[in-house]
Amino acid sequence: TIEFARNNRHVPFSAFKITGVGRFDLLAKVSEKAQLSEEESKEYRRVYDRVESIFKRGYDLGVPILIDAEHTWIQPVLDDLVLEMMERYNKDVPIVQNTYQMYRHDAIHRLKDHHRIALDMGVKFGLKIVRGAYMEIERARAAEMGYPSPIQPDKPATDHDFNEVIRYFMDHLDTIHFMVATHNEVSSQLLAQLIDERGLPHDHPHIYFSQLYGMSDHITFNLAEKGYNVVKYVPYGEVKTMMPYLFRRAEENTSVKGQSSRELKLIEKEVRRRKGK
Ligand SMILES: Cc1cc2nc3c(=O)[nH]c(=O)nc-3n(C[C@H](O)[C@H](O)[C@H](O)COP(=O)(O)OP(=O)(O)OC[C@H]3O[C@@H](n4cnc5c(N)ncnc54)[C@H](O)[C@@H]3O)c2cc1C
Repeated sequence: TIEFARNNRHVPFSAFKITGVGRFDLLAKVSEKAQLSEEESKEYRRVYDRVESIFKRGYDLGVPILIDAEHTWIQPVLDDLVLEMMERYNKDVPIVQNTYQMYRHDAIHRLKDHHRIALDMGVKFGLKIVRGAYMEIERARAAEMGYPSPIQPDKPATDHDFNEVIRYFMDHLDTIHFMVATHNEVSSQLLAQLIDERGLPHDHPHIYFSQLYGMSDHITFNLAEKGYNVVKYVPYGEVKTMMPYLFRRAEENTSVKGQSSRELKLIEKEVRRRKGK
């Protein structure tokens, strides 16, 4: 996808998951700073080299690369890798971009910390924010293992931090490139409104909206029509490796408060409007 994105202005980013290039249990072990066996050290070296080769390719071809956030207990190794790669490849363009899940109560603090580190290193800081996709697993694991849940107490707390950090980005636009990845209409509207209030061009190069392919086209199309930078996140891979992702989407799409219900209501409303009812 990095090569595909090169010179294709319709594909401004490439993205990957660290679990696509490394074994989950190994990443958890490195995150814990547990002692690795000789075999595991070699295995981790290979993961490191793969991650580096992905970012290097992005750097050589000028394609920014987002790394997805997954479970909190593999995030430490991810953060370390990203900060190291940022120092190497983000000198002129934010090629290496991390993801921050705002359902984590420490997310804003961590994000601001990384922003400061990037400034200290004299490199560009680019990132994406999401609310977070692993809430139930995180809470269940914390309860089972007896540590405090890393997740916000409720949805309003997640929404609050998500929207607050958007304001933080707008206040630091000179040193931050960001992507707001959401299907939430209020957050999308908030960002669009702030762009207008500050008299910024809709296609400001530091600001991107994003939705998943196949979801929330009403948000994507309206933003695109008004000239905002908006991208569809298009996952691909072998079906068996994609199953967890597809299950998460299926769960979101079938829940009563989920995206499909919201979209279905909008479609029904539009059908009624067209029929003049
Ligand atoms: C382009 C794109 C890329 C993405 N990449 C990633 C990624 O790298 N990593 C990742 O984890 N997810 C990723 N996601 C998924 C994302 O984290 C959300 O699961 C999904 O987008 C739903 O959140 P929302 O903001 O769209 O909508 P909303 O419906 O407004 O929010 C739902 C989200 O709110 C949070 N929430 C719900 N109930 C509670 C509660 N009781 N307490 C606290 N929080 C609550 C959860 O995070 C839930 O997913 C991505 C989504 C998009 C659109």
